[in-house]
Amino acid sequence: MTDYFSPDLKGISPYTPGEQPQDKRYIKLNTNESPFPPALGVEQAAKEQAAKLYLYSDPSCMPLKQAAAKLYGLKVENVLCGNGSDEVLFLIFRAFCSGVKGMACPDVSYGFYPVLCGLLDIPYTPVPLKSDFTIYPPDYASINHNVCIANPNAQTGIYLDISGVEEILKQSKNRIVVVDEAYIDFGGSSAVSLLKNYKNLIVVQTMSKSRSLAGGRVGFAFADSGIIADLEAVRYSFNPYNINRMSMYAAIKSIEDSEYFSLCVDKIVHSRAYTVRELKNLGFEVLPSSANFVLAKHSNMGGEELYLKLKEQGILVRHLSDERIKDYVRITIGAHGQMAKLVAAIKKILYNRVQE
Ligand SMILES: *Cc1c(COP(=O)(O)O)cnc(C)c1O
Repeated sequence: MTDYFSPDLKGISPYTPGEQPQDKRYIKLNTNESPFPPALGVEQAAKEQAAKLYLYSDPSCMPLKQAAAKLYGLKVENVLCGNGSDEVLFLIFRAFCSGVKGMACPDVSYGFYPVLCGLLDIPYTPVPLKSDFTIYPPDYASINHNVCIANPNAQTGIYLDISGVEEILKQSKNRIVVVDEAYIDFGGSSAVSLLKNYKNLIVVQTMSKSRSLAGGRVGFAFADSGIIADLEAVRYSFNPYNINRMSMYAAIKSIEDSEYFSLCVDKIVHSRAYTVRELKNLGFEVLPSSANFVLAKHSNMGGEELYLKLKEQGILVRHLSDERIKDYVRITIGAHGQMAKLVAAIKKILYNRVQE
């Protein structure tokens, strides 16, 4: 850290992304990407835009807003487009959480929330999940800060049903409630249906997980038009051309192919059921997941050790060192063949261990 670095930033602790190894070919089950390529036509759409890269992209993101609005029967005034939902989260935290407004999040959730609070000097309140790792809405009633939950929750995969989300909204007339739905397509119904009744609700979604576009960096906020206008004011003060033209048209193509989207999601859901069954047969405790990953632990082997042994076998999963989940590994649900290889590798690891 140089002496030039702003003193108020000296304490920040940046987010640690999952490994993206460029050297060796792993079965990659560590960052919740889709195992399937983008929809047909996505590559062509990006190529056509590549020829126009000398021109700026549309700062209003209008064609992409239209495509995203149509998905949920919303108006374009209800949609914000971001360079990944990480940027959407940045804009929300910057717009609504300064000073005393603050942010409260589950203690086990997406690691980016406290990181953003650190960067933006936002007071942060972690709200402990129950011992079964569920979100308990009454826990949020007495907190004055804004609220941000991931649903299904990051790291645990557990889904809070829509009545639970509404319960948090009911307690929260004077604050913003952000529902980060990065994993909603893998199980659960979107809180978008609550937008008409709650002007303080912001639903965040991404094309990175269920729509095979992690490298394209496209995410959304859906909210009341006033909230979106506030967010647009911040976006235009930060990066008006935030969606590059290749990603914009790739995303539109991807959204239009709803059949391929459903096919991919169905495959993941089946693959998840298979994985959970096999892991439980091998003696794992597996949290009930509505996402494209599972959090699992085995009483004979710690999370970090299992992560390292799987890596030796060419399979990458994620080990998170947060105190409450350090005994677990987080396994992204890939295609069936990948999960069969994972199960075989785990059998070998646990069997060798017994032989020692
Ligand atoms: C993956 C993820 C994101 C970030 O998605 P991008 O759109 O790729 O930036 C946001 N929130 C949660 C809970 C996630 O798991």
